[in-house]
Amino acid sequence: GMAEGIPALPFPQPIKIQEIRCTKIFINNEWHTSSRGGTFPTFNPATGVKICDVEEADKEDVDKAVEAARAAAQRGSPWRRMDASSRGRMLHQLADLMERDRLLLATLETLDTGKPFLQSFFIDLDGSIKTLRYYAGWADKIQGKSLPVDESFVCLTKHEPVGVCGAIIPWNFPLLMLTWKLAPALSCGNTVVIKPAEQTPLTALHIGSLIKEVGFPPGVVNIVPGFGPTAGAAIASHMDIDKVAFTGSTEVGQLIKEAAAKSNLKRVTLELGGKNPCIVFADCDLQMAVKETQKGAFYNQGQCCTAASRVFVEESIYEEFVRCSVENAKKIVIGDPLDPQTSQGPQIDHQQFVKIMDLIESGKKEGARLEYGGTAVGEKNLFIQPTIFSGVKDHMRIAKEEVFGPVQCILSFKSQQEVIERANSSQYGLVSAIFTTSMDRALSVSASLETGTVWINCYNALHTQAPFGGYKMSGNGRELGEYALAEYTEVKAVTIKLSETL
Ligand code: NAD
Repeated sequence: GMAEGIPALPFPQPIKIQEIRCTKIFINNEWHTSSRGGTFPTFNPATGVKICDVEEADKEDVDKAVEAARAAAQRGSPWRRMDASSRGRMLHQLADLMERDRLLLATLETLDTGKPFLQSFFIDLDGSIKTLRYYAGWADKIQGKSLPVDESFVCLTKHEPVGVCGAIIPWNFPLLMLTWKLAPALSCGNTVVIKPAEQTPLTALHIGSLIKEVGFPPGVVNIVPGFGPTAGAAIASHMDIDKVAFTGSTEVGQLIKEAAAKSNLKRVTLELGGKNPCIVFADCDLQMAVKETQKGAFYNQGQCCTAASRVFVEESIYEEFVRCSVENAKKIVIGDPLDPQTSQGPQIDHQQFVKIMDLIESGKKEGARLEYGGTAVGEKNLFIQPTIFSGVKDHMRIAKEEVFGPVQCILSFKSQQEVIERANSSQYGLVSAIFTTSMDRALSVSASLETGTVWINCYNALHTQAPFGGYKMSGNGRELGEYALAEYTEVKAVTIKLSETL
């Protein structure tokens, strides 16, 4: 699966990048400079050093990109006339080129995000390539039905592309979140305008060069690096975009849906935050539960919408669980993300760093017990120690707000009924996890949890074949799996009157 570990030696090595080649706006398979003449810097969060400047897309550039995407989506265009099987073939070719450039893409991802290189290589790149191949396979299997309508009619459904799809991408998994949107959109025959996060535009832009190399018709994929309130908002409120897919914060998700409603009622899918409960029963495999919940809490520096941020542990094993969690956290190696020994890199930027440190302080002030970490590593950088709080109570900020940093909150519970209620008392409903050796209990508890995903005796077990998305304020719609196809197709019912009765 996407979240499985890192294979044994020999490790792949990051490559030395002399110069970043793709730094412009990608429209119609060509590289453009910013209409307003703006550029913005992107930094390596591990060193604070600027990597390069990128051309900044604003509203005018989004307009150009949408015009190109609209022309490419027009009836009779090369893309619309292309056989579905050939569309699938092109997605496979894109996956082939990503495999060819896997070291470069993994290095770029690590430079731009600070995530450990081996994780970029084995998890982000693996998941991205698998997603493309999975949807490549779907391209010529997206089909309608023949329906038993009343009276003398034949009714057929056809699944057609929605049209021009906007995609607004976060910085925590830049390439993976891009392919989760790009692959199903292209598989279904749409065209796309993608805005990467301003912190992490580099892998998306490299994908632009691969799109051109594969030979997708111009305008099918357009990439507009820029900021949220400008380029992002231009996508959300555009009158000629038919659908927008967004991953990021719940607040911005609300803005996107509002802008969609006030412009042209474009379709909206949202993947937002989570405050994800793990329920650890006394009959679990304790070491495994410790390992998995901690991986869930600290993976990607805690910058995951799926972060295991509320770990409820049954009273009788609570102290043992906390003690083992602290032992386990001591194995985490913070350092240079390009070093294969490193398991934890820096946070993405200063703003996130400050927000996380503030939440850690709130945990201390509100009376949670700091078991491990709790401070920054060194000065003037973005590294934070893995932090464990025990004695966390439901009302504390760290138990309610999304921290998006390496902070594990451990709470205790007495009864199954009580823990289900507490787990569900959140505005969020993205993922949850249950640790128990009783499958009977696991299945009844999973039926009670209000989340789009329930993991039993595992964590971050994402697979391209399985749908991913949130209940409640964690989002609308599903990504991945067959379910995602519905988000990228319009259904047309074609009804034919027969002259003879059937
Ligand atoms: P964000 O939601 O502001 O950014 C995500 C994307 O949305 C970026 O591409 C950004 O440019 C764009 N955006 C921002 N404002 C926009 C607007 N008004 N209109 C259209 N697009 C806009 O996230 P952030 O500020 O980078 O991080 C803040 C918090 O969001 C984090 O602390 C975390 O809680 C959450 N977050 C969640 C995810 C996730 O995977 N669910 C990812 C990143 C951040």
